[in-house]
Amino acid sequence: MKLVDVLEKLSNACGVAGREEEVRDLMKELLKPNVDEIREDKLGNVIGVKKGKKDAPTVMLAAHMDEIGLMVKNITKEGFLQFAKIGGIDDRILIAQKVLVHTDKRSITGIIGSKPPHILKEEEKKKVIEADDLFIDVGAKDKQDAQKMGVRVGDAVSFDIKFTRVGKDTVVGKAFDDRVGCAALIETMRKLSKVDCTIYVVGTIQEEVGLRGATIAAFQLYPDVGIALDVTVAGDVPGVKEVEAPAKMRAGPALTVADAGLITHPKVLRLFIDSAEENKIPYQLETGMRGTTDAAKIALTKEGVPSGVISIPTRYIHSPASLLSLKDVENTVKLAVATIKNVSKYF
Ligand code: ZN
Repeated sequence: MKLVDVLEKLSNACGVAGREEEVRDLMKELLKPNVDEIREDKLGNVIGVKKGKKDAPTVMLAAHMDEIGLMVKNITKEGFLQFAKIGGIDDRILIAQKVLVHTDKRSITGIIGSKPPHILKEEEKKKVIEADDLFIDVGAKDKQDAQKMGVRVGDAVSFDIKFTRVGKDTVVGKAFDDRVGCAALIETMRKLSKVDCTIYVVGTIQEEVGLRGATIAAFQLYPDVGIALDVTVAGDVPGVKEVEAPAKMRAGPALTVADAGLITHPKVLRLFIDSAEENKIPYQLETGMRGTTDAAKIALTKEGVPSGVISIPTRYIHSPASLLSLKDVENTVKLAVATIKNVSKYF
């Protein structure tokens, strides 16, 4: 399957943090042909192993399977669903979104409703409507009717956006954070032929709620090197200053020098940069002190694991729909492949 088709499948699948089943099944199926072993750990990480030479270093290559979303918190007696946010979501992006409520029986379409603007007071119009004042309308007559449709407290809710190709090399879709990392992971394994090092390829759970899956996966595997494939904010849009978000779309993968949870190990950064330059792969460097990735947790495992992150610049992450360039994904795969081939020269 082509990279873009893999991304489409993964993006359209739903996997709000803690409910990664659909994505996990896809990851297992798509990784299987290119690893020697594949298993699921106790909490639901997918771990594939491609065996290398006996004394060569081991590398953990991780991308998170979960996405941001919502969870049903309460069903009102009129049949509206009040919700909690799962992961970092800006309240401003929620109003009027079409969503899917994943019940035990099936997925139900709903819309995030609020008090209509026509009846808002002037001061109210200026304020952001908070998530606590919003609700999901699934067209239920009342609480009993919603329950009959299968809705229960705790059901996961995802945004309902379908993957679309736009322009020459760009795509729009849901949950590119981090399904594009998952797609890059799969393509990297497909492209790698014989290498010295042993590769642990991991689809992690619950990254968006505290890097939880990576923590336990790294503990089990305790690799010599850790690499996360994730997204970063592409700041090349109106209103964003270069210093606030320097990564640009179509300028190649971004290498994080430091973020809120990790200062990339200098040897790992050198490995990335040398691998990019040797192979004429475009790359960009960035330092952002807000977010972090699975690499932060991998780095702090047991006695420590030199770790870094290769990020795909993506516009509008942590919103219902994001946009990215397939060129950046291809270059990320090239860099991941070149890096893995070089690992045993550096570690
Ligand atoms: Zn992410």
